[in-house]
Amino acid sequence: MCPGYDSALAMTAAAAPQPGQPPLAALAADAARTALRPPAPEPDAPDEEPLYAARQKIYPQRVSGTFRRLKWAVLFVTLGIYYFLPFVRWERGPNAPSQAVLLDLPDRRFYFFFIEIWPQEVYYLAGLLIVAALALFLMNAVAGRLWCGYLCPQTVWTDLFVTIERWTEGDRREHLQRDREPWTLERIARSGTKHFLWLMIAWWTGGAWILYFADAPTIVKQLATFQAPPLAYAFIALLTFTTYTLAGWMREQVCVYMCPWPRIQAALTDEYALNVTYRYDRGEPRASLKKAEILRRHGEPAGDCIDCLQCVHVCPTGVDIRGGSDLGCIQCGLCIDACDAVMKKIGRPTRLIAYDTDINIKRRQAGLPPLYRIVRARTVLYALIIALIGAMMTYAYATRRIDAVSVLHDRNPLYVRLADGALRNAYAVRILNKSLEAKAFVLTVNGLPDADIDVIGSSFFVGPNSPAIEVGPDQSREVRVLVTAREELAPQASIPLTFTIVPATGGSAVSAADHFFAP
Ligand code: SF4
Ligand code: SF4
Repeated sequence: MCPGYDSALAMTAAAAPQPGQPPLAALAADAARTALRPPAPEPDAPDEEPLYAARQKIYPQRVSGTFRRLKWAVLFVTLGIYYFLPFVRWERGPNAPSQAVLLDLPDRRFYFFFIEIWPQEVYYLAGLLIVAALALFLMNAVAGRLWCGYLCPQTVWTDLFVTIERWTEGDRREHLQRDREPWTLERIARSGTKHFLWLMIAWWTGGAWILYFADAPTIVKQLATFQAPPLAYAFIALLTFTTYTLAGWMREQVCVYMCPWPRIQAALTDEYALNVTYRYDRGEPRASLKKAEILRRHGEPAGDCIDCLQCVHVCPTGVDIRGGSDLGCIQCGLCIDACDAVMKKIGRPTRLIAYDTDINIKRRQAGLPPLYRIVRARTVLYALIIALIGAMMTYAYATRRIDAVSVLHDRNPLYVRLADGALRNAYAVRILNKSLEAKAFVLTVNGLPDADIDVIGSSFFVGPNSPAIEVGPDQSREVRVLVTAREELAPQASIPLTFTIVPATGGSAVSAADHFFAP
């Protein structure tokens, strides 16, 4: 148990009634007086109350328990992925990068393991963003600000920075004490070490970011030998600064003042979403441990909350969750761990603070069993839409073509009459080869049975009227195609043509349509 809790118990014991002290009714009244919930609104609150309050520095106390362990696990997994993923290799062949996750801006490609996204497929990104937003809504509908409490980068890095602070400057009580003392060499050394470690982490964070935009081992070597592009150093400096400032200095202020999600989340939630909740039906009226025992012994009401403030001291945003839901509460669950430890120590049931709903508190007060409705219309709807968009994206990816052809008829002249009386139309045909190897495509034109097909610049034919066109790896090539009709066409005829390409080595065909015009 933490020292703060012990001191709370000591204070509690000191306040315990001695023989001959006030009667039970007075104790009950005292306990009721100290009860916080529900707080009575002040009808005539003074108008001059300031609208701005200076930030009170928060010294979150170390805590252990289920939710703390869960947060450690999430922290190690998410930071591990972020820092080391660029070094994971994925073999794609001789002409492609072997980095598993790479945003290749010069070549306009995004690689994610076996997935490769081209610039024309930016709709995948849109689909991904929609799925991410819906996943956020789903998390919110199930258990409030799960994202904020466990997964948000601001939370994860702040958690890491607070841990460094505890290593260097001590836990809450020690740190508070040091901050009250004048600067000594030891204090300077501790504070300096903290800021140095923070800066190192911030620098590594910024450095890891740019590894996603270039071959990681190469850029690391370049950075180490000061041969990396200046932009890389600029981005590292910028991200070092933002990480150091946001996670080291601003911390909970980002969640409370800067982030829009708490406001949006509050508008999206409903009465069945689980939130970190103080079960005031159990906790109130608050009383010190001894007072509560006396009250219970005499059949008087006494809550389980002993007002030790452990839940407040461990809170990274300084919230007293006993006052009800709060915009500052990121729902990290650390107050649950702190209170559970207290409850175990005083022999009361745990989960005085728990993921719960106000509906359940009312139901328990009415003698009804709690009601948990994770599967309900909105959670099902969110899950279905996520599954639908995911299925559509998967289908589109699985059936997408890595070759493409487009055709553009010459605007002027529309046709040319040759000396032998034949009629010729010309087209610009663009062939796109998205694969990472050079390919030859066989072009056929259907619609005019006896027409001659010529490609300017094509040196070989695989059959009559079947020219082959070579396209380099990951390139597109435009060729000029001449279609010559030998038969007599009706005046002002417009005959539909289909231009089809097939890889010479075999594969499926892809087509584009245009017309053949007669005078
Ligand atoms: S809710 Fe739990 S941790 Fe918080 S003051 Fe009450 S007993 Fe202490
Ligand atoms: S009140 Fe509890 S759940 Fe909310 S931020 Fe503080 S410790 Fe986390």
